Amino acid sequence: MGKIVSIGETLVEVMADSSGCGFLEPMSFTGPFPSGAPPIYISQAARMGAATAYISTVGDDDFGKVNLDRLRSDGVDISAIAIDPILPTGHAFVRYRPDGNRDFCYNITYSASGQTKMTPEAANVIAASTHLHVVGNSMFTDEIREMTAQAAAQIKARGGTVSFDPNLRKEMLAQPGLREAIEKVLSFTDLFLPSGDELFLGVETTDVNEAIAQHLASGMKAVVHKRGAEGATYYDGTLVLNQPPFPAQEVDPTGAGDCFGGAFTALWTSGESAAECLRLAAAAGALAVMKRGPMSGAENAETVRAFADKHTRRVQGAKHV
Ligand code: ATP
Ligand code: MG
Repeated sequence: MGKIVSIGETLVEVMADSSGCGFLEPMSFTGPFPSGAPPIYISQAARMGAATAYISTVGDDDFGKVNLDRLRSDGVDISAIAIDPILPTGHAFVRYRPDGNRDFCYNITYSASGQTKMTPEAANVIAASTHLHVVGNSMFTDEIREMTAQAAAQIKARGGTVSFDPNLRKEMLAQPGLREAIEKVLSFTDLFLPSGDELFLGVETTDVNEAIAQHLASGMKAVVHKRGAEGATYYDGTLVLNQPPFPAQEVDPTGAGDCFGGAFTALWTSGESAAECLRLAAAAGALAVMKRGPMSGAENAETVRAFADKHTRRVQGAKHV
């Protein structure tokens, strides 16, 4: 059986109880919740039954323990999560605006997460893995970029695969070196999991079909385009599968894309059909938005399957022309 590994930031999220703009006056919050895009992803992949490992750094504090406890209880191999003796675990205060957008006040780069580097434990975990999941916003230090490229090269040389979820807001691409890092990740991506306009990263078009064609021509095996409350579509050059959304009462959209990716890759790497990967990933994404807290809606495989079966939405298949 294969093992999925991811590399990146680990943080706690503390959520404002009221919607509104910013954090300029006293307000009440709920948290800390374990968080970070790759931790949410790896938690969901583990809950779907995949063997998983995570490479990161936390502080020697309760915010670190919140995350370690969660991932350990999900069965994730946490041997390569280092504990920095000085810097604190990353954090993000989050407040939803009335229009559904989010305001953040956070520190990740200058937290323990920024110290993530290749350790003997990280090298061991990479050597034992058959799939690497890369998250674009996690490429915030040279060390993480370098480790990601090394892990991808090693895993692919052994016949393994790489998935990539950009998870990038446009303004992030202004970070020095990030656009180049993203281009590099795209060059070794097998399974691309963009959301919305992220589909157009690395291509010279704004046409969806043309963008898909360019990505597939560059060597990707498949592209899954996530479209929030509108569902998701899978393309591999032969098949186009459209997955309508499952019914969901959206309470907290944070983590939907990560849970979608975790479920999709857990199934994809175990040889499931693309249609079943897509169906259960969409179910995992819908379940994720229905609970408050970034990982709170990452359900186990039985719950995801039961939800998907209960709300059957037929995958519509069509041959590519
Ligand atoms: P994130 O906000 O975590 O970065 P994302 O933008 O990467 O998420 P989305 O497209 O928002 O990803 O969500 C991933 C998938 O989850 C969607 O393609 C869809 O299948 C499912 N999903 C998300 N939101 C909803 C919703 N409101 N109702 C039903 N399904 C949803
Ligand atoms: Mg979204």
